[in-house]
Amino acid sequence: MKKIVAPLLEWYTANKRNLPWRQDRDPYHIWVSEIMLQQTRVDTVIPYYHRFLAALPDVQALAEADEDLLLKLWQGLGYYSRVRNMQKAAQLIVTQYSGQFPQERAELLKLPGIGPYASGSIGSIAFGKPYPAVDGNVLRVFARLQNDRTDIASTTARKNTENLVESLMPEGKCGDFTQALMELGACVCLPNGEPKCAVCPVREYCQAHAAGTADELPVKSSAKPRRIEEKTILLVRCGDRYGLRRRPKKGLLANLWELPWLEGRLNADDLIAQYGQVLTLPPEPLGEAKHIFSHIEWHMTGYLLHVSAEADFPGVLWFDSVEIHRSLSVPTAFAAYHRFIPF
Ligand code: SF4
Repeated sequence: MKKIVAPLLEWYTANKRNLPWRQDRDPYHIWVSEIMLQQTRVDTVIPYYHRFLAALPDVQALAEADEDLLLKLWQGLGYYSRVRNMQKAAQLIVTQYSGQFPQERAELLKLPGIGPYASGSIGSIAFGKPYPAVDGNVLRVFARLQNDRTDIASTTARKNTENLVESLMPEGKCGDFTQALMELGACVCLPNGEPKCAVCPVREYCQAHAAGTADELPVKSSAKPRRIEEKTILLVRCGDRYGLRRRPKKGLLANLWELPWLEGRLNADDLIAQYGQVLTLPPEPLGEAKHIFSHIEWHMTGYLLHVSAEADFPGVLWFDSVEIHRSLSVPTAFAAYHRFIPF
């Protein structure tokens, strides 16, 4: 595998995408981008990255940020624990490391939200350390390069790949090597049986390409099926104001704002039976929607309810549409109904 290093670096230098977090090696910039990029596509991340850095330009600003601002900056990216952990880590960096990012892997791993992958990417890209950053892309690339049928969801595959990447790290170019592997996985050695082998800089050394098995790799055991939860989402309106509530402080989408909802898929008659006395118009269907989390799927139906007085629908706080769009973090799970609130 040593032979892949030089052509891969050469290809990366000539072909790398011009991404905003590649303009410098500031660990804060690398960190923000790496955490945003977990589970999220590059195109989606770019505007979020610019907005986040404009509002919170350094570790100190992140450590001191108001939670509502933080959640608003993350709205739409999902997996909100990522940004909460970033703030906890920023507070530790300020209090325990005098505001300077630690460089050693053991220290990086102590920070909330920084696991083996992020410690590898921050350590190698920002500080030039030979720490491997192995994610699904890198596992796929090496499964193909070595024509290896080990399940990439297994600890064995991850450990083996981390050891291999660490052994390949070129002195003085660790950050470039990390990014070159990421770039190869993102742009050439694509998932779902669609690798672009014809333009691959390491084709010559690829055992799956030689064996004609690239389309079959990697092998990955399927995840457990997601639990399905059915919900009826209520867009409750009184005059020009809408009723929203905070989610619980712990658990899924903790402390974010949500539209009120009821368990199960209810129809208009069910809602009239429950709220008929306070409705000024019949419930208006807003359609069906689905939202997929890592372990759960919400299958939703939604209704617009016009109520006669705010006090008729307890358990929510009332906001006009500008306040909702400017200040409240409403997770994407509710986007199919949140979009009916005019801006
Ligand atoms: Fe991936 Fe094809 Fe390159 Fe092998 S030759 S690393 S399968 S793109």
